[in-house]
Amino acid sequence: AVMVAGSVAALSEIWGELQRAAGATERLVELLQAEDSVKDPAEPRFVPESVQGEICFEDVNFNYPARPDIPALKDVNLTIQPGETVALVGPSGAGKTTIIQLIQRFYDPLTGQVALDGIPLTEMDRHHFRQHIALVPQDPVIFAATARENIRFGRPGATDAEVEAAAKAAAAHEFIQKLPEGYESYVGERGVMLSGGQKQRIAIARAILRDAPVLLLDEATSALDAESERLVQLAVDDLAQSRTTVIVAHRLATVKKADRIIVMDQGEIVAQGRHDELVAQDGLYAKLARLQFTDGMAA
Ligand code: ADP
Ligand code: MG
Repeated sequence: AVMVAGSVAALSEIWGELQRAAGATERLVELLQAEDSVKDPAEPRFVPESVQGEICFEDVNFNYPARPDIPALKDVNLTIQPGETVALVGPSGAGKTTIIQLIQRFYDPLTGQVALDGIPLTEMDRHHFRQHIALVPQDPVIFAATARENIRFGRPGATDAEVEAAAKAAAAHEFIQKLPEGYESYVGERGVMLSGGQKQRIAIARAILRDAPVLLLDEATSALDAESERLVQLAVDDLAQSRTTVIVAHRLATVKKADRIIVMDQGEIVAQGRHDELVAQDGLYAKLARLQFTDGMAA
């Protein structure tokens, strides 16, 4: 498919939003409303050229506009250091995805603030600072385009060699090569249907191409086959190494590897620490760990 450069760039810019909106019209409508509720300042501050990737939530309270009665986040204070890998765990509805949304400023907190490298998100140009963030969503969007084009969405200017290097690092190269026309194969609707693990690896390849200092990752809840899971895990470990990473974690293996685990329940941070420390406290975390983070962790 031929695409003019401008439209590819525009698509890339709304990339995160598109991923959020995937699949459901209600989500799209909600997204458009959410986008509308967020305004850039008249004179946005510049995002530093070399973003370190410190993320800070300060006294954040938040309700979704559609659910003003239910606090989605309550008094959240959280500083994530540059390069740190943080795993967010907790039962469904705990507020994990909301944290990921607020880091991208899809919504503004009711009180308090979210800052990147010490600059409140509300003071920056949102399209600009989002270029420093890569998102690997739970159910990545695969466009009706070639495998190559699908990966290139991570960075529209990337060369073919860069696309393939990213695919290799994401453990996607091998399966792509086996498609009928390799990288030129059409995938997605009316093309080759990809498995959940393959879609995630495409999304990871996009994130690798994007090479952003902040990586946000919503782990797949649906069971991947063991081999896919292993490959996804390896790719994620590699990607998380050199950047600030926030993972909504559903697998014990991911959780254990994090520098810090944040346990959430009903919009609040109820505990944090390393795996062993949290198990020893015998609270909600120990309970979730006994369930291997599979039951009661959906969504
Ligand atoms: P988790 O990702 O931990 O399962 P979420 O962050 O998605 O939890 O949800 C936190 C709370 O906000 C829940 O009460 C949930 O029902 C509510 N919520 C999440 N998304 C929306 C939305 N788009 N509109 C209204 N309420 C929402
Ligand atoms: Mg969630």
